[in-house]
Amino acid sequence: MRFDIITIFPRIFDSYLKESFLKRAQKKGLVEIAAHNLRDFAADKHHKVDDRPFGGGPGMVLKVDSIFKAVQAIKKKKVKGKERVILFSVRGKKLDAKTAQRLARYKRLVLICGRYEGVDERVAEHIADEEISIGEYVLSGGELPALILMESVCRFIPGFLGKQESLEEFKGSYPAYTRPEVFVAGKKKWAVPKILLSGNHKEIEKWRGQI
Ligand code: SAH
Repeated sequence: MRFDIITIFPRIFDSYLKESFLKRAQKKGLVEIAAHNLRDFAADKHHKVDDRPFGGGPGMVLKVDSIFKAVQAIKKKKVKGKERVILFSVRGKKLDAKTAQRLARYKRLVLICGRYEGVDERVAEHIADEEISIGEYVLSGGELPALILMESVCRFIPGFLGKQESLEEFKGSYPAYTRPEVFVAGKKKWAVPKILLSGNHKEIEKWRGQI
């Protein structure tokens, strides 16, 4: 699976993608991730990718022309399978595990990260296949949503999670404890639930709500 990210801050992705899961997934060849600088696709020599909104109002809007060119250039490099173009927007469909699982079936996701006041609406109308929001709050860009989407989608790629990790999306999440059995916090003692030390796997699973 391949992720092509369109952003004006491609370096935001450097450190996160070089650690842990997504690094391992790239190393294993399960995913390829490329962050493309939108400014490289600007029509003018000053690499301007934003402009004032028609009708007035505050802030700047990312232009449709450079985003169109970026998506075209990305799609020139063919993938064997279906692809989907996603625009991050506050009013998009809320990301959940089901959506992540559905998106994991694509061979390529093109992720368009908005900035400033947002993105020219023609990107949503004509270029993006769908709009996704990661929650009802406003961030200053689509870069964190892109990282969140990639990580949640990757969990559904066979081989991404090692044996030791769990797909909580299906099994449900339960409270976890590790040593010490009793943690002494000043005058207080914080103990682990006894059932977890019982060795009774059936009861433990029940307690965890897994059966
Ligand atoms: N003008 C908009 C805010 C734009 S925020 C408004 O006030 O409603 C700038 C960009 O950040 C957006 O274009 C989008 O790509 C991204 N973004 C911000 N919050 C987001 C969220 N909750 N989910 C997904 N993307 C978000």
